[in-house]
Amino acid sequence: MEHEILNFIEEIIEKDNETGKFGGRVHTRFPPEPNGYLHIGHAKSICLNFGLSQKYGGKTNLRFDDTNPEKESDEYVQSIKRDVQWLGFQWNGDVLYASDYFDQLYQWAQKLIHDGKAYIDFSTSEEMAALKGNLTTAGSDSPYRNTSPAENLDLFERMKVGEFPDGHCCLRAKVDMASSNMLMRDPVIYRIKRAHHHRTGDKWNIYPMYDFAHGQSDSIEGITHSVCTLEFVPHREFYEWLLVNLEIYRPQQIEFARLNLDYTVMSKRKLLQLVEEKHVTGWDDPRMPTISGMRRRGYTPESLREFVKRVGVAKRDNIIEFGLLEFCVREDLNKKALRMMAVLDPIKMVITNYPEGQVEEMKFDNNPENEADGSRLVPFSREIYIERDDFMENPPKKYFRLFPGGMVRLKSAYIVRCDDVLKDDAGNVTEVHCTYIENSRSGNDQSGIHVKGTIHWVSVAHAADAELRIYERLFTDPNPLGHEGVDFKTFMNPNSLTTIHAKIEPALTAAELGVAYQFIRKAYFCLDTEATTDKLIFNQTVGLKDSFKGSK
Ligand code: ATP
Ligand code: MG
Repeated sequence: MEHEILNFIEEIIEKDNETGKFGGRVHTRFPPEPNGYLHIGHAKSICLNFGLSQKYGGKTNLRFDDTNPEKESDEYVQSIKRDVQWLGFQWNGDVLYASDYFDQLYQWAQKLIHDGKAYIDFSTSEEMAALKGNLTTAGSDSPYRNTSPAENLDLFERMKVGEFPDGHCCLRAKVDMASSNMLMRDPVIYRIKRAHHHRTGDKWNIYPMYDFAHGQSDSIEGITHSVCTLEFVPHREFYEWLLVNLEIYRPQQIEFARLNLDYTVMSKRKLLQLVEEKHVTGWDDPRMPTISGMRRRGYTPESLREFVKRVGVAKRDNIIEFGLLEFCVREDLNKKALRMMAVLDPIKMVITNYPEGQVEEMKFDNNPENEADGSRLVPFSREIYIERDDFMENPPKKYFRLFPGGMVRLKSAYIVRCDDVLKDDAGNVTEVHCTYIENSRSGNDQSGIHVKGTIHWVSVAHAADAELRIYERLFTDPNPLGHEGVDFKTFMNPNSLTTIHAKIEPALTAAELGVAYQFIRKAYFCLDTEATTDKLIFNQTVGLKDSFKGSK
């Protein structure tokens, strides 16, 4: 039997399944906070959580951790649902919300108070910080630590009904002010926030802290393996303390290394800043590392899933090259993209011996990688556009494209010989004049002429105009957040977007959203969501080769 290499989380799951720890169940969850759009790091967490349940015949919940009303909104909820499904995953049952559990969480807080394991603290945050101690010194007890359960219960109820202003007091778990884990030194579990919540409206004046909501939500849902990123390692002790002290079902928290990409900023807070300060056009700007930005850019779900698979699951933080993601995109698009002709920097060619007014339809394979994609006819005529850099007046050796006296094949059409060039007053070439070899038509070439170069073209009379948006890295520094005291926006690439006006073949006027095109010899492109029938706009998805200067 083939021996499969398991990642460390799969090892844990297989061991649990052997010992029967969760009765053989595997139930994971993806728990985003709806305070921004998802980014490629979340894609890793999504693929991991859904991948585990698929592999072991389990389930994955989608649960919104919506305990921070001021920063959260339904717009974010909707975008997250769309992104998860676009990546190819469907959550178990209905979408879930931590806010659905606010009543239960409130009762559990009352239980802790009742059991003498939580108290209301009226200290200011400065006073609390002063008593917290530090890594080498134990903290000291708050003067409110020994209030009776009865009095605390009453105070908690008054917090709830809105008797106190924001921040006037809070509820703290009574754990251990001398713990070596700072997060165990009587953590705050409820705070007063008389804020409107996107789902519960104005029902609550108090909201649970993330750490008081997350583990219990996992427990309520019967989650078995609660997979999260490494920064939650110090939170695990309190996660377990709560489950034990509330005497409820205990899921297992497991931490893995978050995805980091070079030249990329991935915190939602930072991405929000880019959006709000208009450094980008929105969360789905094709330069953004968001799933919606990547979708608009033309990245495919298959390529993101392949990328996550190649990155693997590690226990230690590392930084992945952006080039690996682009490699995965390119590999997938090579299989799928329809081959098209577009001239990005046009110069006119006149074929002087081709009859004026004549049009021939040239057969062009839609995708040599996939015969099922068939072929189409591309109109050819006496005047065509070619790329400016496919012609050189004084070519170096081994230049196989067009030059005076030289010959080249026009893709899927004829061989042409360059006879003459026209120039403007400044000496720039404005037109290339050629003659075509009549019996050299592609598919039926009887000329016996061998040429080394093939170039693409678009018939002038049939060409359409399109705006092409060409992207580079959003940041010029591999680690924009790694410079102390320097704002990460200092490293934004001023050339991250270039707009060019291209001549495209007529078939591209029927381009569709979500379809990949390869503009042959140039790059992969996709139609942009802003495009209209009057104004065609394409995004460059990725180049044909890894041409990034910063990559090894
Ligand atoms: P950010 O730090 O980017 O703001 P977050 O952790 O605050 O993200 P959440 O909405 O809380 O975002 O995250 C949902 C899930 O996605 C969590 O389980 C979190 O651990 C995971 N996650 C977030 N960022 C990454 C990442 N870069 N790599 C892997 N998983 C991630
Ligand atoms: Mg978070």
